[in-house]
Amino acid sequence: MEDEEGPEYGKPDFVLLDQLTMEEFMKNLQLRFEKGRIYTYIGEVLVSVNPYQELPLYGPEAIAKYQGRELYERPPHLYAVANAAYKAMKRRSRDTCIVISGESGAGKTEASKHIMQYIAAVTNPSQRAEVERVKDVLLKSTCVLEAFGNARTNRNHNSSRFGKYMDINFDFKGDPVGGHIHSYLLEKSRVLKQHVGERNFHAFYQLLRGSEDQELQELHLERNPAVYNFTRQGAGLNMGVHNALGSDEKSHQGVMEAMKIIGFSPEEVESIHRILAAILHLGNIEFVETEENGPQKGGLEVADEALVGYVAKLTATPSDLVLRTLLARTVASGGREVIEKSHTVAEASYARDACAKAMYQRLFEWVVNKINSIMEPRDRDPRRDGKDTVIGVLDIYGFEVFPVNSFEQFCINYCNEKLQQLFIQLILKQEQEEYEREGITWQSIEYFNNATIVELVEQPRRGILAVLDEACSTAGPITDRIFLQTLDTHHRHHPHYSSRQLCPTDKTMEFVPPKVPGSIDTGQNFMFRPISYVFSMDPTLRAMWPDGQQDITEVTKRPLTAGTLFKNSMIALVENLASKEPFYVRCIKPNEDKVPGRLDEAHCRHQVEYLGLLENVRVRRAGFASRQPYPRFLLRYKMTCEYTWPNHLLGSDREAVSALLEQHGLQGDVAFGHSKLFIRSPRTLVTLEQSRAHLI
Ligand code: ADP
Ligand code: MG
Repeated sequence: MEDEEGPEYGKPDFVLLDQLTMEEFMKNLQLRFEKGRIYTYIGEVLVSVNPYQELPLYGPEAIAKYQGRELYERPPHLYAVANAAYKAMKRRSRDTCIVISGESGAGKTEASKHIMQYIAAVTNPSQRAEVERVKDVLLKSTCVLEAFGNARTNRNHNSSRFGKYMDINFDFKGDPVGGHIHSYLLEKSRVLKQHVGERNFHAFYQLLRGSEDQELQELHLERNPAVYNFTRQGAGLNMGVHNALGSDEKSHQGVMEAMKIIGFSPEEVESIHRILAAILHLGNIEFVETEENGPQKGGLEVADEALVGYVAKLTATPSDLVLRTLLARTVASGGREVIEKSHTVAEASYARDACAKAMYQRLFEWVVNKINSIMEPRDRDPRRDGKDTVIGVLDIYGFEVFPVNSFEQFCINYCNEKLQQLFIQLILKQEQEEYEREGITWQSIEYFNNATIVELVEQPRRGILAVLDEACSTAGPITDRIFLQTLDTHHRHHPHYSSRQLCPTDKTMEFVPPKVPGSIDTGQNFMFRPISYVFSMDPTLRAMWPDGQQDITEVTKRPLTAGTLFKNSMIALVENLASKEPFYVRCIKPNEDKVPGRLDEAHCRHQVEYLGLLENVRVRRAGFASRQPYPRFLLRYKMTCEYTWPNHLLGSDREAVSALLEQHGLQGDVAFGHSKLFIRSPRTLVTLEQSRAHLI
């Protein structure tokens, strides 16, 4: 391959392995990684290993090397995949998507940034102002989203705590003219609680550490994050440690600048800061039972009234409303009647936390919507009936298994099962379609279809999510026991089902029901109306609660549960991806300690297994290891044959290729498609490559 390294760097494509075993796969991965080759193909799928160090692989020079090239012409790289997706989109006017998967810290988000940078670099040669604006917003949006959606975790110092799918719209010239972001399942519980060694979302620390003294004063904030309940847990020893992006002060500046470039107004930025501050103050509010009244009479006060005053002021809401929201709840008691019921200390604390979470979630959604409104394609191309072509980039959480797994892990893993299913289907489908298109006969391949797992989750009435919904909608707190019993009766014989009761040592099915986000809050017949923004005088705040004007009796009608909402969003996502031409980036995390240059065998092998990479190679090889359009094949190998060098005089490129292969004695290992040559075994490619290497 042009510009490719010698054999000491291992095989640039796992398809070329002499023997397809896990050992050989791992050896090749390891060898390449040691030599700084973090990228390797499986056909058109890119496998990437996080180097945990800056490698000289990126930037304008590298981009130029890949621009306009074919996938195999250069060493494996993200730029090559970005380029392939871009070319497919441009040449064939087809929507494409790049699906990036891998566990936390494997390098998905960094990969998505490199892809965006590549696309931004190779488009808009004529420097159209509107396109430049869109590109600016696309690039800068990442930094803003990371401030609000990323946090320091033990596995990744800049971990995305939400899933992200981003569409980039292109006009007929192939220039970006807009975009749209979908976010999935923000981990809002992090607002309240962080594990030891972890932090809340970056935005809080950036605000505290990066603001001017006077700004902090206006927000009634102290600079030290240790003052606030929501920012002090978990951090412990790491209090003074900065996140992976550099210091919080610097990041604050970066985010402020990005928001300005994107088009957030100064008033909007101020409102955002006020909400963040209000959340921090909320977190410090404590409740005490008043002695005069006693708990039975529902006498409850906040310990520090000043905090309520701050929250009220910052959210531009009357303070008695804030107080009432915390100390009592409104209950719809059948019909249109509404009564107010006092909270216990526990209920008030729950209300406070629910408020804080909801406020943060709404803030995040509002930020995403704001960016979307700015990126919405403006001047649609009339020649395509207003339809642009699209490249979608999916950067979504990978499989997660902890000692105890909550509802969030369940959703994340369900999402991965669905994406894996899509991957298998599409890879097989793509192969099959190509063979049909080219008039090649082939045999179908055995593979593990995880459809049964997806079905176990999704099935109407009996599926895990349906049973969970049912459990949430019944009055009273749902219990682990009833939920698991129902599942056990339905699924005890399912090959992929186990539960604590059926199998006490298996923790994979362990739920912690009270943590089911959304379903407890909204599934029952009352709700905490989070600090009544309906009455807020702040326009940004009001915009975050478009449903705030609803009558309480309407609001309390059974809303969809978190599980059902997530399922629906996953089904829509998969449908969307399936309609596009997919490209895949499979990210691998080399070790648990974020150490540069160290690849832990067992750790990586596990990821290779659950990503189904070996299977992927097998599928790819079962058919044909390589396929190349005739002209491209000739261009590369014509010097190895007297009939084709420098130019052939035969009727067609296909005949010329046939003559060339005959001379090498390789004609038995190939099939001739209408426009492409299909090569069965990697050996053939190696032979051709060697005879070419002799001549150059
Ligand atoms: P994920 O999104 O999969 O959780 P990230 O993309 O946030 O993981 O990567 C985690 C960290 O690993 C980054 O903050 C960065 O320090 C490092 N990293 C990831 N990819 C690369 C790369 N290609 N080159 C150098 N460092 C990287
Ligand atoms: Mg990420």
